[in-house]
Amino acid sequence: MAKKSVIDLLNEARSRELTAILQYMAQHYELEDQGMGKLGAKMKEIGIQEMKHAEALAERILFLEGVPGSKPDAVAKKGESIPQMLDTDIALEAAAVAMYNDAANACAEAKDQISRRLFEKLLADEEEHLNLFETIQDHVKKLGAAYLATLAE
Ligand code: FE
Ligand code: FE
Repeated sequence: MAKKSVIDLLNEARSRELTAILQYMAQHYELEDQGMGKLGAKMKEIGIQEMKHAEALAERILFLEGVPGSKPDAVAKKGESIPQMLDTDIALEAAAVAMYNDAANACAEAKDQISRRLFEKLLADEEEHLNLFETIQDHVKKLGAAYLATLAE
């Protein structure tokens, strides 16, 4: 029973990661297209980190003899302005931080320290993503076009 609940948490996290991958890669393509190559490259880099998260979760699920899900938990948003993109990303990361904190605790209660450690590792990365998106959003709000120009290539 405890194992099943841990597998469910790992799969819930995996669905979030799959959404994040689709979202950041979609933003990567759109930003490239708009000539915002520097910000676009950052989105690609973070998207690839999310792919590694999705894979680490799948490996843990397989080890626990579960079945890794392959469905994202939301649809990637398209056609957003840069401030809207950043709002979307901040919301994704903030929700992941909250869920992974809770999941780490739940894994400890289920006496699965390895899954707990995985959630803590992902949590550290998501906190960094959240901080980065918030910093960029802050600069966009304070400096506007002058800052946006620095995000082009
Ligand atoms: Fe992630
Ligand atoms: Fe993230």
